[in-house]
Amino acid sequence: MDDVTPEAPPKRKPGRPRKDAAPQPAALTVDDLAKLAAALKDTVQAPPVVADDEPPRIPTPKTPEEVAMLNDQIRDLGTDFEDPDISKERRELYKAIRASSHVARCPRCWEAKQAGKPITVTIDVPHPKGAGRQNASFRINGQFYPKGQHVVKRCEAATLAWLIDQNYRVDRERMGPNGDGEGKVYRFDLERGIVGEMARVIRGDD
Ligand SMILES: [Zn+2]
Repeated sequence: MDDVTPEAPPKRKPGRPRKDAAPQPAALTVDDLAKLAAALKDTVQAPPVVADDEPPRIPTPKTPEEVAMLNDQIRDLGTDFEDPDISKERRELYKAIRASSHVARCPRCWEAKQAGKPITVTIDVPHPKGAGRQNASFRINGQFYPKGQHVVKRCEAATLAWLIDQNYRVDRERMGPNGDGEGKVYRFDLERGIVGEMARVIRGDD
């Protein structure tokens, strides 16, 4: 390191590749880029956009099976995000799926509809155990469910019931079967499980 001076190291001449490095493409100056942009402006067209008022080429899926078929088609398109035709196809497929109803996209709600049951249910949400008094609520994807009755879709009810069940389970493990910390053993009721808990919560038992 004897040859290192206190001053700044000598600047490498621009455009000259280092001996130990692979040749680098010449860097473009700001002026070059401006010229390039000006030249491209008239030749490059924006990718075709599917207008919203354009009638959709792909029919809106009406059932979970049809939604699954479209998802399969998206998967089969692979990961080529450069090809404009593939990108257009992908966009149209996503658009068709987005246009479908929640019931067509949600197997649980679909099943309920087929069985002639209401899609929405009223669920009695308890105060989360072990939570403070302030701002305590169950939460799904940023949606808050404080203690009280909530009219929700079946799939949301199922998620809430699961969350409530988990909250109770954790609390029972924490506090023991008598809720006073004694024993601290809780056997999860596999017979009842999540479905049973869900039914209990929806019925408002306990
Ligand atoms: Zn649903």
